[in-house]
Amino acid sequence: METELLYLRDARLRTFEATVVAVDDGRVALDRTAFYPTGGGQPHDTGTLDGPRGLLTVTDVRKEGATVWHAVEGGPMPEVGAPVTGEIEWARRHALMRTHTALHVLCGVIWNEWGVAVTGGNMEPLAARMDFEFDPLPEGFKEQVEELVNVELAADRPVEVGFLPRSVAVEDEDLIRTKVNLIPDSVAEIRVVDIVGLDKQADGGTHVARTGEVGRIRVTKTESKGKGNKRIRLEVVDA
Ligand SMILES: [Zn+2]
Repeated sequence: METELLYLRDARLRTFEATVVAVDDGRVALDRTAFYPTGGGQPHDTGTLDGPRGLLTVTDVRKEGATVWHAVEGGPMPEVGAPVTGEIEWARRHALMRTHTALHVLCGVIWNEWGVAVTGGNMEPLAARMDFEFDPLPEGFKEQVEELVNVELAADRPVEVGFLPRSVAVEDEDLIRTKVNLIPDSVAEIRVVDIVGLDKQADGGTHVARTGEVGRIRVTKTESKGKGNKRIRLEVVDA
């Protein structure tokens, strides 16, 4: 069962209509969903599914193969074939969108200023950590990176989402830098998130429309996680 991933083309979709295609031990699979499943460093959405048997609360969302499963609580399970209306808990999702875009701005700034690549990261709503190949961190780094990122956020750059054939994406210099070659050959079309003029990455996450929508960041801590691996912790705050 393949679930159509509505958030890939419309990150601002909050409510949607879908059909139940499978039910299994407290989880519901739909033919289409706007719920983001945990992946790519971005945690899952929460929200509700409303159907003929009542309202269910979505507490977890996972993608298994091509199917998105919604873990639910609060009522009798729907029947296969039932229509449901899904609604995303928008405060949480929008906070995650702001945070995810902030991390791409951070990657772009660090690459442009220091030529250093990201090695990993994780986020929760309005807080995140990201690891980079610094060895060691430059003098005054914490204050400098915070200032550079906040300048780019305030510049209100557009964030564009597009789709490229794999053969085109693997020739793109910016995408090569962000390791587009690691995407399996089986993927025919690659989704690209472009913070215009700053950072371009193959990415499956949800983002705000412009960098100004993020607000500001505050770097709360930097730590060494070993040779060539330095961790940056940040918070996202209102501008
Ligand atoms: Zn991302």
